[in-house]
Amino acid sequence: MFAMQLSKPRTPLEWVELPDPQPGPGQIRVKVGACGVCRTDLHVVDGDLTHPALPIVPGHEIVGRVDAIGAGVTDLKIGERVGIPWLGHTCGHCLYCDEGKENLCDHPLFTGYTRNGGYATMTVADAHYAFPMGEEGDDVSLAPLLCAGLIGWRSLSHAGNGKKVGLYGFGAAAHIIAQVLRWQGREVYAFTTPGDTKTQEFARSLGAKWAGGSDEMPPELLDAAIIFAPVGPLLPAALKVVRKGCRVVCAGIHMSEIPAFSYDILWGEREIVSIANLTRQDGIEFLSLAPKIGIKTTTTTYPLKKANEALDDLRHGRFDGAAVLVP
Ligand SMILES: [Zn+2]
Ligand SMILES: [Zn+2]
Repeated sequence: MFAMQLSKPRTPLEWVELPDPQPGPGQIRVKVGACGVCRTDLHVVDGDLTHPALPIVPGHEIVGRVDAIGAGVTDLKIGERVGIPWLGHTCGHCLYCDEGKENLCDHPLFTGYTRNGGYATMTVADAHYAFPMGEEGDDVSLAPLLCAGLIGWRSLSHAGNGKKVGLYGFGAAAHIIAQVLRWQGREVYAFTTPGDTKTQEFARSLGAKWAGGSDEMPPELLDAAIIFAPVGPLLPAALKVVRKGCRVVCAGIHMSEIPAFSYDILWGEREIVSIANLTRQDGIEFLSLAPKIGIKTTTTTYPLKKANEALDDLRHGRFDGAAVLVP
């Protein structure tokens, strides 16, 4: 198999040939059809996330077809299309697994971080953590649902049921969640880097009621805000636009330092929460809902060999929606 592999943080991924991985008991091997490029991959490559299993093949928005199965796998068949997300394995017996909070498992494996992922022609996954993807839609369009969609969905489910929802950072996750919000009959307020009128236009094209810079106040106070951009100063900014009793949800796995802020913007029973990883239940819920909503992802495709270019374009916000690698 071929892969784009990270040997050392803050160095480019390298094109390598590796032995074909063999699925162990309970595992499947998947021929990758498409793999989305997530901001978390950028945090792995840039060394913001400090415990990758090096050398590592990044990528955790994988759509592909099962081409080999290990002992004991009964619910997936050779040739079946599956999606492989960030949550690759959990222990099943820690305090969090016992409570049904497997996203917080003490001994997890994460695809493309602590086990090899989808920047490759093939990969191996635990069958019980892969999602059947059916035959509707193409691999490239579906790939961003597996993290941008899933984490966005989990973030939204923690944001409450208020009508007016602010989204900070209008990239892969927000462009999917905006469509969910519109389908639910709620209003989208999109906040971008100040002056990024192109992304604000993109947000309006997906039904945002208002789009502006993160330094601006929306026309009315909001019922919730979700921060997708990894930018600490957005937290106090978001607290200022939500009304009393409402939440600011931090969706990212990493954020730059949050500046000190005055207590009065938190007071009034405003809450700050973070979202970590996903549960398989999040995946089942969201992936069954996505076709009903008719979510359309906006994608820019790159050949697998150009993964470094895709990551760099993500870093500099050079495309709308999501980047997807195709082997
Ligand atoms: Zn556990
Ligand atoms: Zn991700």
